[in-house]
Amino acid sequence: MTQALPPLYLDHNATVPMRPAVMAAIMDIMRIPANASSVHAYGRQARRLVEEARAAVAALIGTQANQVIFNSGATEGNNTVLKYIGAHFEEEQILVSAIEHPSVLEAAPKAARIRVDPQGILDLSHLESLLKEKKTSLVSVMHANNETGAIQPVAEIAALCNRHGAFFHCDAVQALGKITLDFGNAGIDFLTLSAHKIGGPQGIGALVFGGCGVTPVLLEGGGQEKKARAGTENVAGIYGFGIAAREALAGFETYQALRRLRDGMEERLQEIAPGLIVHARDAPRLPNTSMVSLPGIGSETLLMAFDLEGICLSNGSACSSGTVRASHVLRAMGAEENAARCALRISLGHNTTAADIERLIEAWSKITGRFKH
Ligand code: PMP
Repeated sequence: MTQALPPLYLDHNATVPMRPAVMAAIMDIMRIPANASSVHAYGRQARRLVEEARAAVAALIGTQANQVIFNSGATEGNNTVLKYIGAHFEEEQILVSAIEHPSVLEAAPKAARIRVDPQGILDLSHLESLLKEKKTSLVSVMHANNETGAIQPVAEIAALCNRHGAFFHCDAVQALGKITLDFGNAGIDFLTLSAHKIGGPQGIGALVFGGCGVTPVLLEGGGQEKKARAGTENVAGIYGFGIAAREALAGFETYQALRRLRDGMEERLQEIAPGLIVHARDAPRLPNTSMVSLPGIGSETLLMAFDLEGICLSNGSACSSGTVRASHVLRAMGAEENAARCALRISLGHNTTAADIERLIEAWSKITGRFKH
């Protein structure tokens, strides 16, 4: 009797399965009453674990540990910065790119949108003209896009912000562990991170502060995290984030090899279905991400067909009450409605193998074959 294969998970930009070492460490820590503010032995042990993790996360992004503040994840980090700056610099405008995550877009509903080009890269001249138009408190542009993987010109954005006296916030959730982040020299004022995108636990993240001297705060009440983020520290989660950061740093080179696997996969998908569009193909892109559309076959249909084949993919954009909406990222890139409604995101992970890609290709042949007739 042949046994069914377990589902093939190729949705790593949504979340990365927890690394075994992270899981083991978390279980151990959960056995102790770990409040990092307590002065007794357990408290001191918890404090040590938190500080070890802070150093590991800082090392992954090339900065000092004292710049890193732990929180509950990127949604909190993004809300903290956008809401705080919005409230404290009311007379000035906020600029966000049109392809930001909803946790940025919805935290700054009045912000002006900076355009991107058809490859999903920020239009620097549009940013510059917006900066010249009105005094700007904050510019928020993600490091790499969660749907297409397009990597933004962060150094140029930082230079423009600096020239116009605006703070620069960067959501680096998808870039973390996938490309080199040299935060110490990047000219970024606020950087958002999340642990579960690198195989750490969900519900833990960090906000990293550059040298601007302003500390956005959302949660007040306790003195934790140098008064920047009140609430008892999630010691197990924080420690797990640290382990994931260390493993991501050690496995950085292996991760880069995914690019070859991804590029080969795209070629073969296109050979099978020549009408395939690969979004942001000519942009600098994360090594693991592929966003494709086959106009005529809707995202929902494709996702269900792959699910029946035991393959977990995504359409890259938010699903609400069971409906799959056209990607706001692809729309901002000027994609035609038919392409935006037919998007499929394949995101590989550090454990993805050539055999996994073969399985995907086989399913693609079968699924697209059905639509030819
Ligand atoms: N920003 C980006 C670019 C993301 O991809 C995500 C996760 N989908 C978030 C923010 C939110 O992260 P979290 O799950 O930690 O709240």
